[in-house]
Amino acid sequence: MNVFQAMGEGSHEQVVFCESKAAGLKAIIAIHDTTLGPALGGCRLWPYKSEQDALTDVLRLSRGMTYKAAAAGLNLGGGKAVIIADPKRDKNEALFRVFGRFVESLNGRYITAEDVNTSVHDMEYIFMETKYVTGVAPAHGGSGDPSPVTAYGVFRGMQASVKEAFGSDSLAGKKVAVQGLGNVGSHLLEHLAKAEAKVTVCDIDPEKCRRASEEHGAEIVSPDKIYDVACDIFAPCALGAVLNDDTIPRLRCKIVCGGANNQLAEERHGRIVEERGIVYAPDYVVNAGGLINVYVEMEGYVRERALRMAQNIYETTTNVYKIAKEEKVPTYVAADRLAEGRVQRIGQIKKGFFGGI
Ligand code: NAD
Repeated sequence: MNVFQAMGEGSHEQVVFCESKAAGLKAIIAIHDTTLGPALGGCRLWPYKSEQDALTDVLRLSRGMTYKAAAAGLNLGGGKAVIIADPKRDKNEALFRVFGRFVESLNGRYITAEDVNTSVHDMEYIFMETKYVTGVAPAHGGSGDPSPVTAYGVFRGMQASVKEAFGSDSLAGKKVAVQGLGNVGSHLLEHLAKAEAKVTVCDIDPEKCRRASEEHGAEIVSPDKIYDVACDIFAPCALGAVLNDDTIPRLRCKIVCGGANNQLAEERHGRIVEERGIVYAPDYVVNAGGLINVYVEMEGYVRERALRMAQNIYETTTNVYKIAKEEKVPTYVAADRLAEGRVQRIGQIKKGFFGGI
C-alpha cells in the first residue's frame, strides 16, 4: 500500500492513523481539503476486509464531502473517518471515547458526525472527549434527526428539476416514483402529497408502503418493479448504485432526483442517463440538507435556519443545470465544476488579506 501515492491522487491534505490497543481501536481520519473551513464528515464503522480497503474508502468519502460542502455554499471542508470494527461485536464506550481523543488532537481541523453503523448514542461518547462532534442529541444542544431537512432539500431540488424539464416548477399532477420510505423517503412523501403530486412507492418493508397508501393515497409496487414505473420523476431514497447498466435502460422517467447517496454505480452512468434524455439531479447537491443541518448545529441549532438554507438547494440545482448547458457537460460533471470553482475562488480571496490583489 502506497499511502502517499493514494493521498496524492485525490489531493488529500492529511491522513491520520489512530490505534489504541487498550480500546481495540483502529481508525483512519482523512482530511481532504480545508480551504473553505474545517473538514466535516461522518465516522463510519465497518468490518473492512483489509486496511487497504479502509484507506480507499476513507479517501473516497472525504473527497466527496469537500464537493458536497462546497456546492452547498457551506464554509466547511471535506473529511471522513472510518473505524475498522465489527458493528455487532466491537462497539463500546472506550472505543468511541478514545476515537474522540484522536479527533480532539486535531484541534478542530476535523469534525466528526454519525455515519453508517454509528449513532447519536455513540456521538455522545465522542462528545465526552471532544467538542468537535456534531449530530449529538437535542438534549445536549444537538440538532437530532437531519432527515426532515434532507427531504426538504430533495424536494426543492425536485422543483428545480421539474422547471428544467417541463418549464414550470409545479409538482401538481406530476407522477413521482419513490424508492424507499425510510427517514428521508417518508418526509419527502409528505412534501409531494402537499404539492399534489401522484406518488408510487416501494419499500422492502410492506408496513411502510401500507402507511403511505393509507395516509397519502400512494400506489404501491414491489421493489423490483420500481425502475419500470412510467413516471415524470424517479426518486431513489434507499440505496446507492441504483443507476447502473441493468436499471438505466428500464427507466421510464424524465428526471432522476432523490436523497440516496452515490446513485451512479460509476461516473460513466451519469453520461448514459443523460443520453437517454433523462435529467439527473446530482445526488450530493440535492441531499445536502443533512450536512446543512449539522453545519447549523455548529453555530447553535435553529431548525428554521437549517430549512431556510436547504431551501436554496433549488437555486444550486438550477445553477448546476445552467453550467451543464453552457459547458456542454453532464450534470454530475457540472456539479463538480460548481464545487471546484467555489473552492478555487474562495481559496484565492483567502490569500493575503485582499486575495493577493
Ligand atoms: P433509512 O434506512 O431510514 O431508509 C431506507 C429505506 O429504504 C428503508 O425504509 C428500507 O426498508 C428501504 N429499502 C432498503 N432496500 C430497499 C430496496 N431494495 N428497495 C426499496 N426500499 C428499500 O435511510 P435514510 O436516512 O432515509 O437514507 C436514505 C438514503 O439517503 C441513504 O442512501 C442515505 O445515505 C441518504 N441520505 C440520507 C440523509 C439523511 O438525512 N438521513 C442525508 C443524506 C443522504
